[in-house]
Amino acid sequence: MPTLFKKIREVKNYITSLKCDGNKSIGFVPTMGYLHEGHRRLIRESKLQNDITIVSIYVNPLQFGPAEDFERYPRDLERDLSVCAEEGVDAVFAPTDEEMYPEKPLVRIEIEGLTDIMEGAFRPGHFSGVCTVVLKLFNIIRPDRAYFGEKDYQQLKVVQRLVKDLSIPVEIVPVPTVRDEDGLALSSRNTYLSPEERQSALALYMSFLLAEKLIRSGNRDPEQLVGAIRDFISRHEHVKRIDYVEIRDEELRPVKEVKEGDRILLAVWVGDTRLIDNWRVGDAQV
Ligand code: AMP
Repeated sequence: MPTLFKKIREVKNYITSLKCDGNKSIGFVPTMGYLHEGHRRLIRESKLQNDITIVSIYVNPLQFGPAEDFERYPRDLERDLSVCAEEGVDAVFAPTDEEMYPEKPLVRIEIEGLTDIMEGAFRPGHFSGVCTVVLKLFNIIRPDRAYFGEKDYQQLKVVQRLVKDLSIPVEIVPVPTVRDEDGLALSSRNTYLSPEERQSALALYMSFLLAEKLIRSGNRDPEQLVGAIRDFISRHEHVKRIDYVEIRDEELRPVKEVKEGDRILLAVWVGDTRLIDNWRVGDAQV
């Protein structure tokens, strides 16, 4: 079993002892728990590259809007601890809200052109909350490397820019999205979906394949491609609303003509569940 820490002071002491003990390299995997195969992939990557792997499990209230799913977000620490044990995680940091935020943090982090688009436009304050918790966790854990999934591509780009602009001494390691056999990107939020909704949710993945086909047949116009993706997705039952579909370059800048390496990013409501997914153009042979 990994050692479980709930207190900042205790995990800090543990880290200090690791640093004194031959300066062990520390890999860090921040999560909100309810661990699945996607998280396991991050953990395995960290295990390969570091002496010690630490996982944090914390549903960060700062990154949820008032009308969002903070209360109903799935939580199961016991199960998460056994997943971590199976994967050979060394330590788990699972603080309470009082431990993390004895006072409401007043700091606000914004990254121009990055935290105000797509997820940031539809979830005001979301990335400020993400940046605050990530920076705080980095200061507590002081990792050599930290692992982030491409599943949350915009979050990955935000964290990379935060680290770059503030010279935070950590290497950010991106990990490709893990999907179910039928293509649905794994997410703790998939547990909200009924079997019928889950079937409709496949439209997200299928729309990426459709876009690949159109791109290969010579359509490189982002507006037309976005239109085709929207049409395709909205034809599916249970699809309540599309928040956005965008095609941007690798660094999330707008594009005039779509090329290999660009990203298709989207957020769609299936029933009462908001799903996000993204795709690197050129990743499917269709
Ligand atoms: P979460 O617990 O959803 O906040 O995710 C914690 C980390 O796992 C983030 O860096 C996510 O991007 C990553 N992650 C979540 N789902 C997946 C997935 N299906 N494939 C790869 N990484 C993922």
